[in-house]
Amino acid sequence: MDAEILREQLLRLCSEFGLLSAAVMRLDEERKSEIVKELSAVYRDGNRSLLSPYLLRSLARRANPFAERPWAKSFLCLAVPLDTIPELDMDIPKNPGNDFVTAAAYAAKLDYHIFCTEIAEKFVARLETVSVSSFKSEVCVDIKAAPEKILAKFAGLGDIGLNNCLVCKGSSSFFIASAFLDAELPDARTGCGELPCGSCGKCLRLCPTGALSPDDFCPEKCISYLSMEKKGELRTEERKMLGESIFGCDICTAACPNSTKSSPLKMDRKWLLNLDKKDFERIFAKSPILYARLERLKRNAEKD
Ligand code: SF4
Ligand code: SF4
Repeated sequence: MDAEILREQLLRLCSEFGLLSAAVMRLDEERKSEIVKELSAVYRDGNRSLLSPYLLRSLARRANPFAERPWAKSFLCLAVPLDTIPELDMDIPKNPGNDFVTAAAYAAKLDYHIFCTEIAEKFVARLETVSVSSFKSEVCVDIKAAPEKILAKFAGLGDIGLNNCLVCKGSSSFFIASAFLDAELPDARTGCGELPCGSCGKCLRLCPTGALSPDDFCPEKCISYLSMEKKGELRTEERKMLGESIFGCDICTAACPNSTKSSPLKMDRKWLLNLDKKDFERIFAKSPILYARLERLKRNAEKD
């Protein structure tokens, strides 16, 4: 398929699905070895702006995403805006009072893994239609050992901002939905605009824990990592960093000039601490908060 025709299709599908941007990257052998070389350097040098302890656990698989996907001939990535994900109507007591805990805004929405997987599958199906052939594909949304953020940067979906997230068109409030495709497609992208970090720096000023600095990201100080990935008990200083947050943090992604401004989900602390597993699974069945497990949320909600 011609690159300009593919770009037009991407633009049309972005508009149809309400996406911020889309990019396709051809994966010929030269490009794959270029990417693997870059990934190896990133992981070998421990570039912490691209890694977290969670990512480090699947390092070898992430360092060469093509080893287990030798059939992949192109990579598709989509920027799915937070505000396109449906809000959930959850059975949470209203008016939590003064003693409340908070979860990142996306916890109040349909689990982005579910939503973005559906979008990527539909997008791939439409690409199959326009390319007049069906092809094998593997959709990845955050839970497989694939370096999606770095691949998306290579593909031109965006650039990594000072908040350590992909920034596209001045926004970080989106999720990346991606797919490896067994289809020989050319490079094509709908555009991501200039990275506005140079004249901004707002995320650095707003991060409540000092996890961000101009040339480093310290996951051990990041509320998202501490609340969702950190195992075991929290140390006193870690509990202080969490404050009232019990699940995720979207302060630095909401800080970008064109990001969606959203409010965290508030819950009464006592209500959460008294919640049983059955009710937790019923109330949060479709929320990404389910991934954190009740024991961890309660650990985060406990006061010293
Ligand atoms: S808030 Fe500003 S400095 Fe931070 S990532 Fe977004 S655009 Fe860049
Ligand atoms: S997610 Fe929150 S704690 Fe982590 S770097 Fe961003 S603002 Fe700081």
